[in-house]
Amino acid sequence: MVFSPPTILRDIVSPEIACKIIIKISTRARRLRLRVEPAWDCIVLVRPRAASDKAVTSFVAKNKDWILDRLNTLPARVPFSEGAVIPFEGNDHVIAIRPASKARVWREGKTICVTSHTGHLHLHVENWLKQEARKRISALVGEMATKFGFGLIRITMKDMRTRWGSCTQDGRLSFSWRLILAPPFVLKYVAAHETAHLMHANHSPAFKRAKLELLKPYSVDPGIARLWLSRYGAGLYRFG
Ligand SMILES: [Zn+2]
Repeated sequence: MVFSPPTILRDIVSPEIACKIIIKISTRARRLRLRVEPAWDCIVLVRPRAASDKAVTSFVAKNKDWILDRLNTLPARVPFSEGAVIPFEGNDHVIAIRPASKARVWREGKTICVTSHTGHLHLHVENWLKQEARKRISALVGEMATKFGFGLIRITMKDMRTRWGSCTQDGRLSFSWRLILAPPFVLKYVAAHETAHLMHANHSPAFKRAKLELLKPYSVDPGIARLWLSRYGAGLYRFG
C-alpha cells in the first residue's frame, strides 16, 4: 500500500478527500480501478505500474462525484459494545451484559449475551462470532466436500479485505468470519464457491456447474447472493 502523494490529487479533490484516497500500485492490474475500503474509511485506487500521474489525476477527476458519494454514504461504524445492534445471520441482535456465567458469550433469541465478569467485551464478541462462523462454515463445507468424495477439509477463518473466501492449490480453504453477519444464503454461496475450487482451480464453466450442483440442496440463487454481497458486503466491515 502506498499513500497517495497529495501533490497528485491536490488540484482535483480537497486535501480532506485526497488523504482518504490510497493509491495501490499493482503489477497485475491493467487499468485504473476504484474500490471502497470500508474498514479504513477510504477509497483505494488501484494503479497499474505503467499508469502516468496524468492518467491518475484525470481518472480521479472523472470519478470525483462517485468518490464523494461513496465516502459520504459509508454506513456508521458499530463497535462491539453494550447496547450495540449488530447483524447475526442477517438478523439484528443486541449486545447485552448478563450476570456472571460459565460461558463468556452466548446467544438468547435476538440477544448476544456477554458475561459481566469479563473485560475486553469487543474481543470476546469477535472471538465468539469467529467460532460461530467456523462452526457453520465447517459443517457446510464438510457436507459439500463429501459430494466430491473429499475427506476432512481444513478451514481457516480470517478477516480478509478484498474477498470472502479463498482456496489454495493444496486445498486449504479460508473464509472471512464476517460472513456470519450476513444472511445464511450468502454464507452458503461463498462456501459452495470455495468448495467448488477444490475440484476446479479456475472459474471455468465446469467450475460454475460444480458450484450450482453444490448449491442445489440449499435452494440458494447464486445471482441473488452475489447481488447481496455487492450491495451490502462492504457494510459488514463497519462492525467491530
Ligand atoms: Zn473463485
